[in-house]
Amino acid sequence: MAVVPSPSEYVDQLRGADLRVTRPRVAVLEAVHALPHADTETIFASVRSSLPDVSRQAVYDVLHALTGARLIRRIQPSGSVARYETRVGDNHHHVVCRSCGTIADVDCAIGEAPCLTPSEHDALDGFVLDEAEVIYWGLCPDCAPESSTADSS
Ligand SMILES: [Zn+2]
Ligand SMILES: [Zn+2]
Repeated sequence: MAVVPSPSEYVDQLRGADLRVTRPRVAVLEAVHALPHADTETIFASVRSSLPDVSRQAVYDVLHALTGARLIRRIQPSGSVARYETRVGDNHHHVVCRSCGTIADVDCAIGEAPCLTPSEHDALDGFVLDEAEVIYWGLCPDCAPESSTADSS
């Protein structure tokens, strides 16, 4: 298991991002950290277990604020609802199972964002890149037929 940050670390993160420290914000950070790639409903249910009075709208608002401050990252594979994670800033990618929708992290092959640069620089037409969002699609080990899992690395 990875080290679980203490609530005071979330408080520091919020302060560092110039966000007011509120219990729902700390609770949402805890929930997103504990449940990587969880959707809003799952995060809401988790926050609700520690803060029974929190409203759905409050959780939406907190997710929006934390995403804007880049304390959490929002991903939304096509056909999926938005999902959130606390692993930010490393430009890692995601692999999604076409069958069951499971999402896993894939470390960036090159390491620095954006790790994919267009082959023709002029193609950017003046845009300055900071991220390349890549989603790999396939079948997870549970869904893949036996024969095709043999050479997965
Ligand atoms: Zn699957
Ligand atoms: Zn991820």
